[in-house]
Amino acid sequence: MTFNLSGFSPSSASSETKHVKVLVLGSGPAGFAAALYAARAELAPLVLTGTELGGQAATTHLIENYPGFPEGVGGSELGDLFQKQAERFGATVEFDTANAVDLSQRPFRVTGDSGSYLADTLVIGTGARPNHLDIPGEVELTGKGVSYCATCDGWFFKDKRVVVIGGGDSALEEGLFLTRYASSVTIIHRRESLRAGKVLQNRAFSNPKVNFVWNTVATQVVGTDKVTGLQLKNLQTGEESFFETDGVFIFIGHTPNTQLFEGQLEMQDGYIVSNHLMETSVPGVFVAGEATDNHFRQVITSAGMGAAAAIQATHFLEKQSQ
Ligand code: NAP
Repeated sequence: MTFNLSGFSPSSASSETKHVKVLVLGSGPAGFAAALYAARAELAPLVLTGTELGGQAATTHLIENYPGFPEGVGGSELGDLFQKQAERFGATVEFDTANAVDLSQRPFRVTGDSGSYLADTLVIGTGARPNHLDIPGEVELTGKGVSYCATCDGWFFKDKRVVVIGGGDSALEEGLFLTRYASSVTIIHRRESLRAGKVLQNRAFSNPKVNFVWNTVATQVVGTDKVTGLQLKNLQTGEESFFETDGVFIFIGHTPNTQLFEGQLEMQDGYIVSNHLMETSVPGVFVAGEATDNHFRQVITSAGMGAAAAIQATHFLEKQSQ
């Protein structure tokens, strides 16, 4: 199989540079699903794991909405299974993080912390990270009452009181979802008007389980081995108070891990623009999961996009070799 390596001479690569047909950036559901499909197409994909093996999903205690696991599956366990399945068909996993890319010509050049790579096609599955409040107790109590995913963790708060921080669509949508389980959902917002759309606002205002605390920020998550409450500050009066709660769900936006591609791929609000074939603005570069999707943010949807990206990468390589 030969490729049109427009303007690039393989001899210009260092002897340690690995040249692969499919390079996958990221080891979450999107990345490993792409690797699985590319491996089964006998393209011997290489996965650069990034700093978080398994991605955001691996930090979830129990995933109960991924089909095939009727009793649920641990987030990191599911990541291990994804990895094993991709490796079984010939994917290679490298514990490296890309820190520079050159997408101006093919093969694409990727520089990692510990290696350099040439890729005939690239699948970006670098994901996103939930924004943090950066207040005392937040990190220590994550997984012990502090969560960034209602769909993942809501079930653990059956008949308990929870707080939602944020005033956007995510805060309201996830807050409403939490009313299925929680005895009360208190939405704490830093202003007195919501950013969320009117439909969600109306639904939230008319739900008897949902309460609002306005013009207020959390300054500390309180608890030792589990959350017991939040320290609050009213931004208008300066008054400080303690609010008892069993859970704190933080939805103050996400940041896609896409800084690496700025100026090289078309982006919108930091998300890589893609079409339904997971193609980006550069032919041969595909994207899957939360680096391009700020709407679904589910393991199954990210994995589905990863599979689609790898199928399209396979078609792309076939066309190049004709
Ligand atoms: P978002 O729209 O950026 O809203 C973030 C919310 O968090 C805002 O209310 C913001 O307050 C608040 N916030 C930000 N930083 C904060 C801080 N440090 N402390 C306290 N509060 C803070 O994010 P999102 O809700 O995740 O939505 C992201 C995008 O996805 C949006 O375009 C949204 O429309 C879309 N989305 C759509 C749906 C849907 O259509 N069903 C569902 C979810 C998300 P301020 O308002 O004061 O800035």
